[in-house]
Amino acid sequence: MRTTGTKKEVSMMHVLPKFDYYEPRDIAEACKLLYQFKTSATSAKIIAGGTDILVNMKKGLIAPGCLVGIGKIPGMSEIQPVNGGVSIGAHLIVEKLVEFDLIRKKFNILSRAASVLGSPLVRNRATIGGNIVSARPAADLPPPLMAMGARVILKSRRQEREVSLDKFFKGPGETVIRPAEVLTQIVIDGPPPFTGGDYLKLMHRRSLEIAIVAVASRITLDGPEGAIKDARIILSSVAPKAIHAVRAEKALIGERPTEKLFDHAAKIASKECKPIDDIRGGAQYRCDMVEVLTRRTLRSALNEAIGQSGERGGE
Ligand SMILES: Cc1cc2nc3c(=O)[nH]c(=O)nc-3n(C[C@H](O)[C@H](O)[C@H](O)COP(=O)(O)OP(=O)(O)OC[C@H]3O[C@@H](n4cnc5c(N)ncnc54)[C@H](O)[C@@H]3O)c2cc1C
Repeated sequence: MRTTGTKKEVSMMHVLPKFDYYEPRDIAEACKLLYQFKTSATSAKIIAGGTDILVNMKKGLIAPGCLVGIGKIPGMSEIQPVNGGVSIGAHLIVEKLVEFDLIRKKFNILSRAASVLGSPLVRNRATIGGNIVSARPAADLPPPLMAMGARVILKSRRQEREVSLDKFFKGPGETVIRPAEVLTQIVIDGPPPFTGGDYLKLMHRRSLEIAIVAVASRITLDGPEGAIKDARIILSSVAPKAIHAVRAEKALIGERPTEKLFDHAAKIASKECKPIDDIRGGAQYRCDMVEVLTRRTLRSALNEAIGQSGERGGE
């Protein structure tokens, strides 16, 4: 570091504060470390890809005395098929969600969301677990994961618990994870027959941009030309956390999928969000865009459910 800069120059360089670094070899050691620090004066935090935590430390928003790297723990970066579904290690980098055949073919909403997260550089460092635990209101991976009913496995020194992602987020940056817990896996059940989904993100630029609005939809039909048996619509960037458009979901279930029905559900969804006005978009604009994206994602979810994958809904 240069020592001759003015005070202003130094602060603009966003220097990292000092911290100790540990690299446990297994989950038990990681949990033990977190527990020890929980009861000491030095605070400890897990570091995965570091794309959020290091930025926040450089900005002076947080200053943990110790970082626990979990990248060397066996199994934490693996994708395992389980009973028709999948278990994804929390340390898997986002780019792998785009590359892996199993995810692209069977859990494609997740793959699509991963493909629009940040830039190639970010996608090659950021992890799925870090994206979930960061709990940004505009994070790309929680909406598709919620649409697929994903759960997370949280391990601590003495306990392991499974929490549905619907119950995991509390608000911006806030989750139910406890200070000495590690998110180890994300579990997703296999999609039922005649299921399709889509994720669309509205942004000003094509990369390095968080969503102005994003929607993930998934529908399951009771047969190739049947009625809608299950419907999930997740709205992102329009509330303190990703939310279900509950009334829109209800309006779809039991009905035959038609353009008119999707229009109706999309209008309901636009009334279920509570966006704020900010520099990237006004509240009313965001509500209008929720309507457009909901309609489009439902259309392509239907195309996929009836076996016409590749036809994404446009207007
Ligand atoms: C330039 C840039 C562009 C970006 N664009 C986007 C974007 O378009 N969309 C988007 O969603 N995000 C974006 N991000 C945010 C960021 O990349 C993601 O949130 C990322 O997925 C975080 O993952 P990570 O592995 O880097 O987490 P880290 O920064 O390592 O950790 C983030 C938080 O999660 C905790 N944590 C990490 N792993 C675990 C675990 N296994 N168990 C318990 N706690 C854990 C850490 O303690 C920390 O609090 C961007 C970031 C940058 C810098």
